Amino acid sequence: MEDFDREIKVLVVGDGGVGKTSMIRRFCKGMFTDEYKKTIGVDFMEKPLFVDKLGEEVRFMLWDTAGQEEFNSITRVYYRGAGAAVIAFATNDRASFDAVASWKDKIEAECGEVAIALVQNKVDLVHQSAMTAEEVEGLARKLGCKLYRTCVKEDINVTEVFVYLAELHDKKM
Ligand code: GDP
Ligand code: MG
Repeated sequence: MEDFDREIKVLVVGDGGVGKTSMIRRFCKGMFTDEYKKTIGVDFMEKPLFVDKLGEEVRFMLWDTAGQEEFNSITRVYYRGAGAAVIAFATNDRASFDAVASWKDKIEAECGEVAIALVQNKVDLVHQSAMTAEEVEGLARKLGCKLYRTCVKEDINVTEVFVYLAELHDKKM
């Protein structure tokens, strides 16, 4: 067994199709696929990463909602013990953007105060953008969450999200 300085359970939430499973696979396995496979049941993957600013080896335990987000049937087990969360929406999906605040409410109701990052994924689809940059920045400000713009497909800004969460997790402890 390896020793870790810190272990963080990270929830990745947001509407179906925004790229949650892709983000977890990208971060943990360094892979991307265009196929959209729906997974049923709770899934998790882990990733060890040395976080320079903390001088620590962190074990990220990434929990995927695995399709249950559509049925509003995410169980308590999913939320239990979480120390951080990613709330994701997609550039070309207005409904996923409008759902962000309710995802944050859900996390806070189940987990209390945890480190949260707001993630706008699929920035490669900027031409099909369903919201303005000002709207996105305004929402981040209103919710008090740091905003990351990612392209999981091209591996842009993904690791940065998780490094930020580890640092914020450290400050909240
Ligand atoms: P989930 O339902 O939130 O888990 O979303 P998935 O990870 O299954 O992704 C849904 C679809 O979006 C898949 O076809 C992915 O390949 C695609 N996808 C994920 N990230 C990106 C991205 O950054 N850009 C583009 N264009 N497609 C993406
Ligand atoms: Mg998924």
